[in-house]
Amino acid sequence: MLHKIKKIRKYLNLLMAYMRASKFTTTPFVRIIPTDRCNLSCSYCWQHNNKSIEITEQEYKLIIEKAKKMKVGMINFLGGEPLIWKYIYSAIELCNKYNIMSDITTNGTLLNEETLNKLGESGLDSLNISVDGKTTEKNIELLKNNLRFINEVRKKYGIIVRINAVLYKNNFEEIKELIEYCNSEKLPLSIGYVVPNVNEETEKKENGIYFIKADRELIREIVTYMREKISKGYKIIDPIEYFENIEKFIRKEKFWECNYSGKYGWINVIGNCKIRSCTKKMDDTGYDFLELKKEDIIKLKENFKEKIDKCNRYCYSNCAYDSFFYTRNKRKFLKKIIG
Ligand code: SF4
Ligand code: SF4
Repeated sequence: MLHKIKKIRKYLNLLMAYMRASKFTTTPFVRIIPTDRCNLSCSYCWQHNNKSIEITEQEYKLIIEKAKKMKVGMINFLGGEPLIWKYIYSAIELCNKYNIMSDITTNGTLLNEETLNKLGESGLDSLNISVDGKTTEKNIELLKNNLRFINEVRKKYGIIVRINAVLYKNNFEEIKELIEYCNSEKLPLSIGYVVPNVNEETEKKENGIYFIKADRELIREIVTYMREKISKGYKIIDPIEYFENIEKFIRKEKFWECNYSGKYGWINVIGNCKIRSCTKKMDDTGYDFLELKKEDIIKLKENFKEKIDKCNRYCYSNCAYDSFFYTRNKRKFLKKIIG
Protein backbone atom coordinates (compact mmCIF):
# COMPACT_ATOMS: atom_id res chain seq x y z
CA MET A 1 0.00 0.00 0.00
CA LEU A 2 2.75 2.43 1.00
CA HIS A 3 4.66 1.91 -2.21
CA LYS A 4 1.45 2.53 -4.19
CA ILE A 5 0.98 5.92 -2.48
CA LYS A 6 4.62 6.69 -3.21
CA LYS A 7 4.11 5.80 -6.89
CA ILE A 8 1.09 8.11 -7.13
CA ARG A 9 3.16 10.95 -5.65
CA LYS A 10 5.90 10.32 -8.18
CA TYR A 11 3.47 10.21 -11.11
CA LEU A 12 1.90 13.49 -9.94
CA ASN A 13 5.32 15.07 -9.66
CA LEU A 14 6.15 13.92 -13.21
CA LEU A 15 2.86 15.26 -14.51
CA MET A 16 3.50 18.65 -12.88
CA ALA A 17 7.03 18.69 -14.32
CA TYR A 18 5.56 18.01 -17.77
CA MET A 19 3.05 20.79 -17.45
CA ARG A 20 5.63 23.26 -16.19
CA ALA A 21 8.11 22.46 -18.96
CA SER A 22 8.94 25.29 -21.25
CA LYS A 23 11.68 25.70 -23.80
CA PHE A 24 13.13 28.60 -21.88
CA THR A 25 12.92 27.46 -18.31
CA THR A 26 13.42 23.88 -17.34
CA THR A 27 13.12 20.26 -18.41
CA PRO A 28 11.13 17.42 -16.82
CA PHE A 29 13.93 14.92 -17.53
CA VAL A 30 17.49 14.62 -16.38
CA ARG A 31 19.65 11.77 -17.60
CA ILE A 32 22.50 10.75 -15.36
CA ILE A 33 25.45 8.95 -16.88
CA PRO A 34 27.34 7.97 -13.73
CA THR A 35 29.97 6.09 -15.71
CA ASP A 36 30.91 5.46 -19.33
CA ARG A 37 32.48 2.15 -18.32
CA CYS A 38 30.85 -1.01 -19.57
CA ASN A 39 31.37 -4.72 -18.96
CA LEU A 40 30.59 -5.45 -22.63
CA SER A 41 32.15 -4.18 -25.82
CA CYS A 42 29.53 -4.37 -28.56
CA SER A 43 30.91 -3.97 -32.06
CA TYR A 44 28.47 -1.19 -33.00
CA CYS A 45 28.81 0.83 -29.79
CA TRP A 46 30.68 4.09 -29.32
CA GLN A 47 28.92 4.96 -26.07
CA HIS A 48 31.37 3.46 -23.65
CA ASN A 49 34.81 4.41 -22.43
CA ASN A 50 36.52 2.40 -19.74
CA LYS A 51 38.68 5.36 -18.69
CA SER A 52 35.80 7.70 -18.01
CA ILE A 53 35.51 10.03 -15.01
CA GLU A 54 32.71 8.73 -12.79
CA ILE A 55 30.21 10.67 -10.74
CA THR A 56 31.24 10.43 -7.11
CA GLU A 57 28.80 9.79 -4.27
CA GLN A 58 29.19 13.38 -3.05
CA GLU A 59 28.63 14.80 -6.55
CA TYR A 60 25.52 12.68 -6.96
CA LYS A 61 24.03 14.06 -3.74
CA LEU A 62 24.53 17.61 -5.04
CA ILE A 63 23.12 16.66 -8.46
CA ILE A 64 19.94 15.20 -6.97
CA GLU A 65 19.47 18.23 -4.70
CA LYS A 66 19.78 20.45 -7.75
CA ALA A 67 17.34 18.27 -9.73
CA LYS A 68 14.88 18.54 -6.87
CA LYS A 69 15.19 22.34 -6.86
CA MET A 70 14.62 22.31 -10.64
CA LYS A 71 11.46 20.27 -9.98
CA VAL A 72 12.57 17.49 -12.30
CA GLY A 73 10.00 14.69 -12.78
CA MET A 74 12.18 11.81 -13.89
CA ILE A 75 15.79 10.72 -13.70
CA ASN A 76 17.12 8.18 -16.18
CA PHE A 77 20.32 6.32 -15.35
CA LEU A 78 22.33 5.38 -18.42
CA GLY A 79 25.89 4.38 -19.23
CA GLY A 80 28.16 2.69 -20.20
CA GLU A 81 26.62 0.19 -17.84
CA PRO A 82 25.02 1.98 -14.85
CA LEU A 83 24.83 -1.18 -12.74
CA ILE A 84 28.61 -1.26 -12.40
CA TRP A 85 28.51 2.12 -10.65
CA LYS A 86 28.76 1.27 -6.97
CA TYR A 87 26.29 3.92 -5.75
CA ILE A 88 23.45 2.97 -8.07
CA TYR A 89 21.09 1.61 -5.38
CA SER A 90 21.52 4.51 -2.98
CA ALA A 91 21.17 6.89 -5.95
CA ILE A 92 17.77 5.38 -6.82
CA GLU A 93 16.77 5.54 -3.14
CA LEU A 94 17.38 9.29 -3.15
CA CYS A 95 15.16 9.72 -6.22
CA ASN A 96 12.47 7.79 -4.40
CA LYS A 97 12.89 9.91 -1.28
CA TYR A 98 12.36 13.10 -3.34
CA ASN A 99 9.37 11.67 -5.30
CA ILE A 100 11.34 11.74 -8.54
CA MET A 101 10.65 8.80 -10.83
CA SER A 102 13.68 6.72 -11.67
CA ASP A 103 14.45 4.74 -14.77
CA ILE A 104 17.50 2.68 -15.67
CA THR A 105 18.80 1.26 -18.92
CA THR A 106 21.07 -1.73 -18.44
CA ASN A 107 22.54 -4.37 -20.70
CA GLY A 108 21.04 -6.90 -18.28
CA THR A 109 24.19 -8.96 -17.73
CA LEU A 110 24.29 -8.07 -14.02
CA LEU A 111 20.63 -8.75 -13.39
CA ASN A 112 19.75 -11.68 -11.17
CA GLU A 113 17.37 -12.38 -8.31
CA GLU A 114 19.45 -10.37 -5.84
CA THR A 115 20.15 -7.29 -7.99
CA LEU A 116 16.56 -7.14 -9.27
CA ASN A 117 15.25 -7.17 -5.72
CA LYS A 118 17.75 -4.51 -4.68
CA LEU A 119 16.50 -2.30 -7.52
CA GLY A 120 12.92 -2.89 -6.38
CA GLU A 121 13.72 -2.15 -2.73
CA SER A 122 15.51 1.05 -3.75
CA GLY A 123 12.28 2.28 -5.37
CA LEU A 124 13.07 1.90 -9.07
CA ASP A 125 10.09 2.69 -11.31
CA SER A 126 11.19 1.62 -14.74
CA LEU A 127 13.72 -0.91 -16.01
CA ASN A 128 14.93 -1.03 -19.61
CA ILE A 129 16.88 -4.13 -20.52
CA SER A 130 18.93 -3.71 -23.67
CA VAL A 131 19.53 -7.00 -25.37
CA ASP A 132 22.95 -5.84 -26.57
CA GLY A 133 26.11 -7.82 -26.65
CA LYS A 134 28.01 -10.21 -28.81
CA THR A 135 25.00 -12.11 -30.07
CA THR A 136 21.36 -11.24 -29.62
CA GLU A 137 20.69 -14.96 -29.20
CA LYS A 138 22.94 -15.19 -26.14
CA ASN A 139 21.17 -12.25 -24.54
CA ILE A 140 17.71 -13.60 -25.24
CA GLU A 141 18.87 -16.61 -23.24
CA LEU A 142 19.94 -14.32 -20.39
CA LEU A 143 16.54 -12.65 -20.48
CA LYS A 144 14.76 -16.00 -20.39
CA ASN A 145 16.83 -17.13 -17.40
CA ASN A 146 15.86 -14.01 -15.46
CA LEU A 147 12.23 -13.86 -16.48
CA ARG A 148 10.86 -15.38 -13.28
CA PHE A 149 12.67 -12.79 -11.13
CA ILE A 150 11.74 -9.98 -13.52
CA ASN A 151 8.06 -10.90 -13.24
CA GLU A 152 8.36 -11.11 -9.46
CA VAL A 153 9.70 -7.56 -9.16
CA ARG A 154 7.16 -6.27 -11.67
CA LYS A 155 4.44 -7.56 -9.39
CA LYS A 156 6.02 -6.84 -6.02
CA TYR A 157 7.39 -3.34 -6.68
CA GLY A 158 5.32 -2.21 -9.67
CA ILE A 159 8.41 -1.78 -11.85
CA ILE A 160 7.65 -1.16 -15.52
CA VAL A 161 9.89 -3.39 -17.62
CA ARG A 162 10.76 -2.80 -21.22
CA ILE A 163 13.19 -4.55 -23.56
CA ASN A 164 15.40 -2.72 -26.06
CA ALA A 165 17.20 -4.28 -28.99
CA VAL A 166 19.38 -3.17 -31.87
CA LEU A 167 18.51 -4.32 -35.37
CA TYR A 168 21.40 -4.62 -37.78
CA LYS A 169 21.91 -6.28 -41.10
CA ASN A 170 22.66 -9.76 -39.84
CA ASN A 171 20.37 -10.27 -36.86
CA PHE A 172 16.84 -9.97 -38.24
CA GLU A 173 16.10 -13.66 -37.59
CA GLU A 174 17.16 -13.28 -33.94
CA ILE A 175 15.11 -10.09 -33.62
CA LYS A 176 12.07 -11.98 -34.91
CA GLU A 177 12.62 -14.57 -32.20
CA LEU A 178 12.90 -11.80 -29.61
CA ILE A 179 9.70 -10.16 -30.86
CA GLU A 180 7.78 -13.43 -30.51
CA TYR A 181 9.27 -14.07 -27.10
CA CYS A 182 8.44 -10.59 -25.78
CA ASN A 183 4.93 -10.87 -27.15
CA SER A 184 4.37 -14.22 -25.45
CA GLU A 185 5.62 -12.78 -22.14
CA LYS A 186 3.80 -9.43 -22.55
CA LEU A 187 7.04 -7.47 -22.46
CA PRO A 188 7.02 -4.16 -24.37
CA LEU A 189 9.86 -4.00 -26.85
CA SER A 190 11.69 -1.12 -28.49
CA ILE A 191 13.83 -1.81 -31.57
CA GLY A 192 16.35 0.62 -32.98
CA TYR A 193 18.23 0.35 -36.26
CA VAL A 194 21.96 0.30 -35.78
CA VAL A 195 23.54 3.55 -36.96
CA PRO A 196 27.19 4.56 -37.29
CA ASN A 197 28.90 6.92 -34.92
CA VAL A 198 27.42 10.38 -35.48
CA ASN A 199 30.77 11.94 -34.69
CA GLU A 200 32.55 10.33 -37.61
CA GLU A 201 32.12 10.09 -41.35
CA THR A 202 29.61 7.31 -41.76
CA GLU A 203 31.02 5.96 -45.02
CA LYS A 204 34.32 5.15 -43.35
CA LYS A 205 32.60 3.10 -40.67
CA GLU A 206 30.84 0.63 -43.00
CA ASN A 207 31.59 -2.79 -41.52
CA GLY A 208 28.82 -4.97 -42.81
CA ILE A 209 26.24 -4.30 -40.11
CA TYR A 210 24.84 -0.94 -41.26
CA PHE A 211 21.98 -0.72 -43.73
CA ILE A 212 22.84 0.76 -47.11
CA LYS A 213 20.90 1.58 -50.31
CA ALA A 214 21.51 -1.91 -51.71
CA ASP A 215 19.56 -3.44 -48.78
CA ARG A 216 16.21 -2.36 -50.20
CA GLU A 217 14.84 -5.92 -50.25
CA LEU A 218 15.81 -6.65 -46.66
CA ILE A 219 14.37 -3.31 -45.51
CA ARG A 220 11.07 -4.07 -47.26
CA GLU A 221 10.99 -7.44 -45.55
CA ILE A 222 11.61 -5.78 -42.17
CA VAL A 223 8.95 -3.10 -42.71
CA THR A 224 6.33 -5.63 -43.85
CA TYR A 225 7.09 -7.82 -40.87
CA MET A 226 6.92 -4.93 -38.37
CA ARG A 227 3.70 -3.62 -39.89
CA GLU A 228 2.07 -7.02 -39.52
CA LYS A 229 3.18 -7.42 -35.90
CA ILE A 230 2.16 -3.87 -34.89
CA SER A 231 -1.26 -4.31 -36.52
CA LYS A 232 -1.70 -7.55 -34.58
CA GLY A 233 -1.20 -5.64 -31.34
CA TYR A 234 2.36 -6.71 -30.49
CA LYS A 235 3.79 -4.30 -27.93
CA ILE A 236 6.41 -2.74 -30.21
CA ILE A 237 6.96 0.76 -28.84
CA ASP A 238 8.39 2.40 -31.96
CA PRO A 239 5.89 3.62 -34.56
CA ILE A 240 5.82 1.91 -37.96
CA GLU A 241 7.03 5.21 -39.44
CA TYR A 242 10.35 4.68 -37.67
CA PHE A 243 10.93 1.41 -39.55
CA GLU A 244 9.63 2.79 -42.85
CA ASN A 245 11.80 5.89 -42.83
CA ILE A 246 15.14 4.09 -42.71
CA GLU A 247 15.43 4.55 -46.48
CA LYS A 248 15.19 8.33 -46.03
CA PHE A 249 17.91 8.10 -43.41
CA ILE A 250 20.14 6.13 -45.77
CA ARG A 251 19.59 8.81 -48.42
CA LYS A 252 20.60 11.40 -45.78
CA GLU A 253 17.32 13.27 -46.07
CA LYS A 254 16.25 15.64 -43.33
CA PHE A 255 12.89 14.20 -42.30
CA TRP A 256 12.81 14.31 -38.52
CA GLU A 257 13.83 16.79 -35.87
CA CYS A 258 15.60 15.76 -32.73
CA ASN A 259 13.86 17.07 -29.57
CA TYR A 260 17.01 17.65 -27.53
CA SER A 261 16.78 21.43 -27.82
CA GLY A 262 13.01 21.47 -27.22
CA LYS A 263 11.07 21.79 -23.99
CA TYR A 264 11.06 18.04 -23.37
CA GLY A 265 14.71 17.65 -24.27
CA TRP A 266 16.91 15.78 -21.85
CA ILE A 267 19.80 17.22 -19.88
CA ASN A 268 22.63 14.69 -19.50
CA VAL A 269 24.90 14.88 -16.48
CA ILE A 270 28.31 13.15 -16.43
CA GLY A 271 31.33 12.99 -14.09
CA ASN A 272 32.47 16.28 -12.48
CA CYS A 273 28.76 17.30 -12.76
CA LYS A 274 29.32 18.45 -16.34
CA ILE A 275 26.65 18.44 -19.03
CA ARG A 276 26.91 16.25 -22.13
CA SER A 277 24.99 17.42 -25.20
CA CYS A 278 23.61 13.98 -26.05
CA THR A 279 23.99 10.40 -24.90
CA LYS A 280 25.07 9.54 -28.44
CA LYS A 281 28.09 11.79 -28.07
CA MET A 282 30.92 11.46 -25.64
CA ASP A 283 31.28 15.23 -25.29
CA ASP A 284 31.27 17.74 -22.46
CA THR A 285 29.60 21.08 -23.18
CA GLY A 286 31.57 22.76 -20.39
CA TYR A 287 28.35 23.64 -18.55
CA ASP A 288 28.22 22.64 -14.90
CA PHE A 289 24.85 21.16 -13.92
CA LEU A 290 25.17 22.42 -10.34
CA GLU A 291 25.69 26.00 -11.54
CA LEU A 292 22.86 25.91 -14.08
CA LYS A 293 20.60 28.95 -13.89
CA LYS A 294 17.43 29.62 -15.86
CA GLU A 295 19.26 31.89 -18.30
CA ASP A 296 21.89 29.17 -18.85
CA ILE A 297 19.18 26.76 -19.96
CA ILE A 298 18.33 29.06 -22.86
CA LYS A 299 22.01 29.18 -23.87
CA LEU A 300 22.38 25.45 -23.37
CA LYS A 301 19.44 24.71 -25.62
CA GLU A 302 20.87 27.04 -28.27
CA ASN A 303 24.12 25.14 -27.97
CA PHE A 304 22.20 21.85 -28.45
CA LYS A 305 20.38 23.32 -31.44
CA GLU A 306 23.64 24.20 -33.20
CA LYS A 307 24.94 20.69 -32.63
CA ILE A 308 21.70 19.06 -33.79
CA ASP A 309 21.85 21.01 -37.05
CA LYS A 310 25.01 19.05 -37.76
CA CYS A 311 24.21 15.59 -36.35
CA ASN A 312 20.49 15.08 -37.00
CA ARG A 313 21.01 13.89 -40.58
CA TYR A 314 23.52 11.25 -39.44
CA CYS A 315 21.52 9.99 -36.48
CA TYR A 316 18.56 7.63 -36.41
CA SER A 317 18.28 6.97 -32.70
CA ASN A 318 14.92 5.29 -32.13
CA CYS A 319 14.37 6.87 -28.70
CA ALA A 320 15.03 10.38 -30.07
CA TYR A 321 12.90 9.67 -33.15
CA ASP A 322 10.06 8.27 -31.01
CA SER A 323 10.15 11.33 -28.77
CA PHE A 324 9.91 13.56 -31.88
CA PHE A 325 7.15 11.44 -33.42
CA TYR A 326 4.92 10.97 -30.38
CA THR A 327 5.21 14.62 -29.31
CA ARG A 328 3.71 15.52 -32.69
CA ASN A 329 1.25 12.63 -32.83
CA LYS A 330 -0.38 12.71 -29.41
CA ARG A 331 -3.35 10.62 -30.51
CA LYS A 332 -1.03 7.82 -31.65
CA PHE A 333 0.87 8.19 -28.40
CA LEU A 334 -2.31 7.76 -26.33
CA LYS A 335 -3.38 4.83 -28.49
CA LYS A 336 -0.01 3.19 -27.91
CA ILE A 337 -0.24 3.67 -24.13
CA ILE A 338 -3.84 2.49 -23.88
CA GLY A 339 -3.17 -0.41 -26.26
S1 SF4 B 1 26.25 -2.90 -23.50
FE1 SF4 B 1 25.57 -0.92 -24.27
S2 SF4 B 1 27.10 0.58 -23.52
FE2 SF4 B 1 27.96 -1.47 -23.28
S3 SF4 B 1 29.19 -1.77 -25.11
FE3 SF4 B 1 27.16 -2.69 -25.51
S4 SF4 B 1 25.91 -1.08 -26.47
FE4 SF4 B 1 27.75 -0.12 -25.53
S1 SF4 C 1 20.14 13.92 -33.52
FE1 SF4 C 1 19.70 14.13 -31.34
S2 SF4 C 1 19.87 12.05 -30.50
FE2 SF4 C 1 20.89 12.08 -32.51
S3 SF4 C 1 23.06 12.50 -32.08
FE3 SF4 C 1 22.06 14.45 -32.53
S4 SF4 C 1 21.46 15.27 -30.52
FE4 SF4 C 1 21.87 13.08 -30.29
